[in-house]
Amino acid sequence: MRTFEASPTASTAASATPASPLVALEHVCFRYGGEQVLHEVNLEVQIGDFLGIIGPNGAGKTTLLRIMLGLARSECGHVRLFGQDVRAFRDWHQIGYVPQKAVAFEARFPASVFEVVLSGRTGVAGLARRFSAADREAALGALETVGMAEYRDRLIGRLSSGQQQRVFIARALASQPALLVLDEPTVGVDVEAQEQFYGLLRRLNRERGTTLVLVSHDVGVIAAEVTRLACLNRTLVFHGSPEEAIRTGAIARMYRDDSLLVTHRH
Ligand code: ADP
Repeated sequence: MRTFEASPTASTAASATPASPLVALEHVCFRYGGEQVLHEVNLEVQIGDFLGIIGPNGAGKTTLLRIMLGLARSECGHVRLFGQDVRAFRDWHQIGYVPQKAVAFEARFPASVFEVVLSGRTGVAGLARRFSAADREAALGALETVGMAEYRDRLIGRLSSGQQQRVFIARALASQPALLVLDEPTVGVDVEAQEQFYGLLRRLNRERGTTLVLVSHDVGVIAAEVTRLACLNRTLVFHGSPEEAIRTGAIARMYRDDSLLVTHRH
């Protein structure tokens, strides 16, 4: 599971029919031991969506992403990716995933920026095969997309956390996925890097048509950037447009903090 460069839209959504959503969660539920973490979650991600998932700590956001990506199994209902049951789904190179705390390399970690991004091509190249010129081109293209090509020979651990974050996104983009899933990607990243990051997501979504699912704490920014918003608190308390979430008070009710709602669209 990793990521891209070229035109990752409907045409690359391998097994999805034009009408089927890239992700469909129906009646999803999950427990850790006796603790019910998710209950009756129904959620769809359509081609071209930029879905933001927000919710308080412990709301089940990461668990929901893990279920979406087949890393955890829902105890009820169905999970479908690109129109296929998640248990039968094999086209993982169609999905890029940037997990939480991906930014954590030590200064002397022995891999260059380019090598890290190239490793994102394994799902396309296959574990047993050498990387081809096309793999290298895709990796470089992904580095260019995130504005990090000039750092290609630098050791990954020598970059700032904001730069490392962009390299991880490039790694996820190297397999040219139709769907990019990011979990709290701006934690520990400074404000300037955050602005660049949201600019990058905007371009990926609006200009390249990459479908995005983003879990974040930046409620104000999220509401300004996404096309669809899901408010999760163990169950889905809202799913719709960010404007509607603000107008109906859905976000405020979840956090009980109106100060978060000052947003503007770019
Ligand atoms: P969020 O991403 O919204 O903060 P999580 O999905 O990480 O929420 O966690 C939801 C709940 O499940 C929390 O109460 C958390 O403590 C619990 N939890 C998460 N992972 C585990 C685990 N591996 N074992 C037991 N409980 C867990």
